[in-house]
Amino acid sequence: MKILVVNAGSSSLKYQLFDMDTQEVLAKGNCDRIGVDGVLKHEAAGKEIKKEIPMPTHAQAVNVLIETLTSKEYGCINDMSEISAVGHRIVHGGPWLIKSVLVDDNVIADLEKCRSLAPLHTGPHLLGIYGCIEAMPGTPQVLVIDTAFHQTMPAEAYTYPIDYDVAQKHHIRRYGFHGTSHRYVSGKAIEYLGNPDAKIVTCHLGNGSSISAVKAGKCMDTSMGFTPLEGVIMGSRCGAIDPAVVPFVMEKEGIPVEEMGNWMNKKCGFLGVSGVSSDLREIEAAVKAGHERATLAYNILAYQIKKYIGSYTAAMNGLDCIVFTAGIGENNSDIRRMATENMEYFGVKLDQEKNLVRGTVEINAPDSKVKILVIPTNEELVIASDTMAIVNESK
Ligand code: ADP
Repeated sequence: MKILVVNAGSSSLKYQLFDMDTQEVLAKGNCDRIGVDGVLKHEAAGKEIKKEIPMPTHAQAVNVLIETLTSKEYGCINDMSEISAVGHRIVHGGPWLIKSVLVDDNVIADLEKCRSLAPLHTGPHLLGIYGCIEAMPGTPQVLVIDTAFHQTMPAEAYTYPIDYDVAQKHHIRRYGFHGTSHRYVSGKAIEYLGNPDAKIVTCHLGNGSSISAVKAGKCMDTSMGFTPLEGVIMGSRCGAIDPAVVPFVMEKEGIPVEEMGNWMNKKCGFLGVSGVSSDLREIEAAVKAGHERATLAYNILAYQIKKYIGSYTAAMNGLDCIVFTAGIGENNSDIRRMATENMEYFGVKLDQEKNLVRGTVEINAPDSKVKILVIPTNEELVIASDTMAIVNESK
């Protein structure tokens, strides 16, 4: 069975085509600058192309994608009927969409309701879904939702201590994000440990970062909240701060409410603290050159990860495993070291040498009570697997 995985943004549509018999990626790429001009980047069968093709709408981008996937030169399928279903990555399902689901009118109506909770993501997701329905009528469409994995959190973890009626009225609570990644890497860790009841802290550290407490395969708590702004310091997002800072900065800096979201999302984090970059590789280079504020940004990240590991260990009454994943978690051995050192009290002991060897899964010392694992995430594979399962169920 072949499944197309789609991640639609406001002017882009990233895709991967999976052969689920082998779990192989047959093709992947991105339709970019949709609605502006249109640029296709595509890779299949060892060939890569980048070319300008007009893509005025998401539906036209899907048409370009289908033509490319079925083309003699860069294709990998003969006919689009070979694609059994499309799986869409959805950032926010709100309280309405709490598991992967086959698209129908009710599901679309529920997703429409999410516009108010995640306006930057939901609109583009809907454009991607409508585009696929228009270009591939009759092909089942499935939504795989990033907030879904976190639905098992207990009320004391997801409830914000604000006016209860206001929270209920506007659906304000911790939702959590990157759920597809936390689910994938915690599942892999459970497999690796051979312990279905394991207590795991999963650290998804990328441009956006989130940390989750996972007990017996269920999410118990997570660092991102009502939006992906909460939690640890990120590329250009502030993470958790005293909420009183927000109106204070608005007043002192004369920032209107419609610009404050942009300030917290784009001007803070590594970029805001260091003044160097939102990319941790550039921060790392500056740290090596002795840059003080870059060093501070770097130290904040490691310190905050450590605090989450400690608090989630307390919340779960123990810890069997820490997992690092995503761009920083998979590639930055210094952050892994700094976040796990001096934690012998918790039974956490890193193997300094294994930590430096790229591709090593288990990086804890042999006498560490807690396993420390580096597991590359694969959100697209989870989306493709869920899509296949749902399409098979619905037959
Ligand atoms: P996104 O959240 O956009 O998916 P990624 O998971 O790609 O982000 O992570 C981006 C972050 O990971 C950046 O801060 C970058 O510096 C870091 N990163 C990515 N690849 C590497 C690498 N090979 N070595 C060190 N850091 C990396």
